[in-house]
Amino acid sequence: MKYIESINKLVAELCKLPGVGKKTAYRYAYSIINMDEEEVASFATSIVEAKQKVHFCSVCGAYTDQEVCEICADRKSDVICVVKEAKDVDTFEKLGEYTGTYHVLNGQLSPMNNIGPDDLRIKELLARLTDVKEVIIATTPDVEGDATALYLSRLIKPLGIQVTRLARGIPMGTDLEFTDEATLLGALKDRKNI
Ligand SMILES: [Zn+2]
Repeated sequence: MKYIESINKLVAELCKLPGVGKKTAYRYAYSIINMDEEEVASFATSIVEAKQKVHFCSVCGAYTDQEVCEICADRKSDVICVVKEAKDVDTFEKLGEYTGTYHVLNGQLSPMNNIGPDDLRIKELLARLTDVKEVIIATTPDVEGDATALYLSRLIKPLGIQVTRLARGIPMGTDLEFTDEATLLGALKDRKNI
């Protein structure tokens, strides 16, 4: 089997996906090969189309296929929730409870990985802070998330804006997307001033 070049190539591509090891990649590859040609074409097209059409909202940095995402276009709010990555916006939206807007940082401060304030969308955040009452910092509960939260609060609090952080309870080092909804909802509701 290892001599079938096209299967090996497909498996190598599938292995680039998070959480997909060789075994799973082979299962996916055979499943794709067993689809009829039309299905495979539609599958491939949807991958290319998603990549071409989806980009980041020019205001908040969330995923969108418009210039400005629906949340930024439709919601008027004086609360901004600051998250690490664009996918975190979807995680919060799935809770169906939060009615404010978002700001995606595109990472967190990490001296070890040479990620400093200029590498994050912090300037863009500060530029949005007119008529804002509260900034909720929803960075991850680990060293980098803590450092980022502290850095942001030092910039934002002097502007007279309330800065809060998600309550503890989210396991250390866990991505928000892997946190169960009840825990995340609790952490959002019990957020604390920092
Ligand atoms: Zn947006």
